[in-house]
Amino acid sequence: MNDKAPFLTAIPVMQQLTSHGYEAYFVGGAVRDYLMARPINDIDMTTSATPDEIEALFDHTIPIGKEHGTINVVWQGDNYEITTFRTEGAYIDHRRPSEVYFVRDLYQDVERRDFTINAIAMDAQFNILDHFNGQQDIATKIIRTVGDPRERFDEDALRILRGLRFKSQLGFTIDATTYDAMVEKTADISHLAIERIMVELEKLLAGNYVSETFSTLQDLHIWDYLPYFKEMPMERIHITEPVTLPQFLAIVMRQSEHHINTKQLKRSNDEIRHAQRLLQALEQAPTLTSKTELRQFVYDFGDSICRELLDMQALLETNAISQPSKLIFNAETVSEIWQTLAITHLQQLAINGKVLMQTFDKKAGPWIKDALRRAECAVVQQQVTNTEQEIIEWVKGNVEIP
Ligand code: ATP
Ligand code: MG
Repeated sequence: MNDKAPFLTAIPVMQQLTSHGYEAYFVGGAVRDYLMARPINDIDMTTSATPDEIEALFDHTIPIGKEHGTINVVWQGDNYEITTFRTEGAYIDHRRPSEVYFVRDLYQDVERRDFTINAIAMDAQFNILDHFNGQQDIATKIIRTVGDPRERFDEDALRILRGLRFKSQLGFTIDATTYDAMVEKTADISHLAIERIMVELEKLLAGNYVSETFSTLQDLHIWDYLPYFKEMPMERIHITEPVTLPQFLAIVMRQSEHHINTKQLKRSNDEIRHAQRLLQALEQAPTLTSKTELRQFVYDFGDSICRELLDMQALLETNAISQPSKLIFNAETVSEIWQTLAITHLQQLAINGKVLMQTFDKKAGPWIKDALRRAECAVVQQQVTNTEQEIIEWVKGNVEIP
């Protein structure tokens, strides 16, 4: 059933606007998802009140994007984003305009929105205002631009990727005229800021219908126009089930012969590191031939990377990326090993470099790292218990100190 609950707390905020003579509506993804009985992500509201007028009506506001018409209203401890009805100025270089114009008419606001399914407004009584037949397109599962698709993609080429993103999330078909315009305008995505592209790509890759959408990306030669990816052998990549961005990047890097700088993607260091860690794990995993080796692997990469790798098995197979035997590498064995590890990090080892230096009365040097790693492995392999004394005895008997 369509769930009204996510909207209910926002209704008093809208009533504050409407009781002062302004119009106010829910709009965009929240209305689309409500009508489709899908989980609602974020709630966007739009109003005829200007930012100054919104600020005058509420005690606590934050001007998060005031010049673009967006004000954050804090109401009973919750945040609500309200944007003034607006149209947009001239587009330069296929990017979003810097100028916006505030208007008093809902029609003009929904007219500048990307797709008919995203241009439906709903008032505080749950009445629908649907100027572009978005409900019909929801019913027949069609992604169609508001107005002439060539013009709309000319204005902002990101809409091409957004359309594909909605296809992947919703399983809709792209209307033929809209699709033809995508074919015609694909190259314009090379003008977009990579940050905006990556936001859409991440959502697209996580969509339930990513398999068919990924083929469409290949058909459109999308990758030829994107930094980083244009240097990668993308024709060899097949995404047949939802993936996270780090998982996707790990597969892409695995299929490439040379290293291309991921900095171009402008993602966080944490995320890139995660992708590189997954890559290392999936390169190393096929070399595992014994439980001893697996034990070391589980310790080195941690259970979360291991579980991710197990989740990716089918996808790796689809991409002809070699896999360890299921007899060795499987969820049960990994979790059993993880639970019986004496330590999960080097920091938990009962000795450290300082202890070694004192015990052997030697200066710091590469020998420390070497001895620590040997001791760490011995503890992981249960050859020695994790106490300072036992480890020192073990080191004396097993490691040559220079
Ligand atoms: P999600 O569920 O992921 O939030 P959404 O449809 O709400 O999906 P948003 O990126 O949050 O997508 O944008 C909110 C609304 O703003 C869209 O539904 C659409 O009406 C409008 N919009 C967003 N980006 C564009 C764009 N590039 N061109 C035209 N309209 C846009
Ligand atoms: Mg949204």
